[in-house]
Amino acid sequence: MTGQGVSWRRDPRSRAVLAVSVLLGLLGVLMAWIVIAPESTGTVFPDRGSATSGETRAAPGGGSYAFLQTQADGATPVAYDPCTPVRIVVNERRAPDDADAVLRRAVAEVEDASGLDLQVVGTTTDPPLAHEDDPEDGEGWRPVQISWTDADEVAELEGRVGGLGGSTWVERDDRRTYVTGEIMLDAPDLVRRGNGGDVATGVLMHELAHVLGLDHVDDLGELMHPSSPRDAWGPGDRVGLAALGAVGCA
Ligand SMILES: [Zn+2]
Repeated sequence: MTGQGVSWRRDPRSRAVLAVSVLLGLLGVLMAWIVIAPESTGTVFPDRGSATSGETRAAPGGGSYAFLQTQADGATPVAYDPCTPVRIVVNERRAPDDADAVLRRAVAEVEDASGLDLQVVGTTTDPPLAHEDDPEDGEGWRPVQISWTDADEVAELEGRVGGLGGSTWVERDDRRTYVTGEIMLDAPDLVRRGNGGDVATGVLMHELAHVLGLDHVDDLGELMHPSSPRDAWGPGDRVGLAALGAVGCA
């Protein structure tokens, strides 16, 4: 969480063009008949600086929410495919004693509000952002990686920043879908701020909501306020998360 409602994104690049270049490099030349599929990717990382496009919306029952990105219609949010589980791996290098309980509760809260299926599938020793330019492994998109880390490893966690979170999107047939993401938690900072793990739980919920597609709002009644002290969803958070879980299968 930072003091700024901001969004950072990398310029879209064509994965297909890159793949074809590598192939040509390996095989010599030829391959002129390869059809380059219209596909591009990018990353949305609201806690890492630069401007956001999130338009704040009023929730029907009160409260507010904002999406990090919308489709070309300007209304439908960019989201994960709700018909596929969102897989998660955890780097436990700096995990506090209550890390499992914090993760379990945050995941349960996100699932409850969004209707999405989040699956913690294992651990990893890969450092944070190791795969920033390499979001696929041999079997498909990498799982979302949650890293218990510190400001020595991730300089952007210095100061009051408790966590960072964002996702990578891919665009096919004019529809963008988030496919993998990354969360970095400042473990020593969160332990120091403590309160029985409630601070860490609230920060992880906030970062998971960024990963799924929610932007900051300037409303202290919502967990998506950039400096929210909450560890529970506000009314707008819930409306936004429910919409992200209801976009229809990709
Ligand atoms: Zn944030």
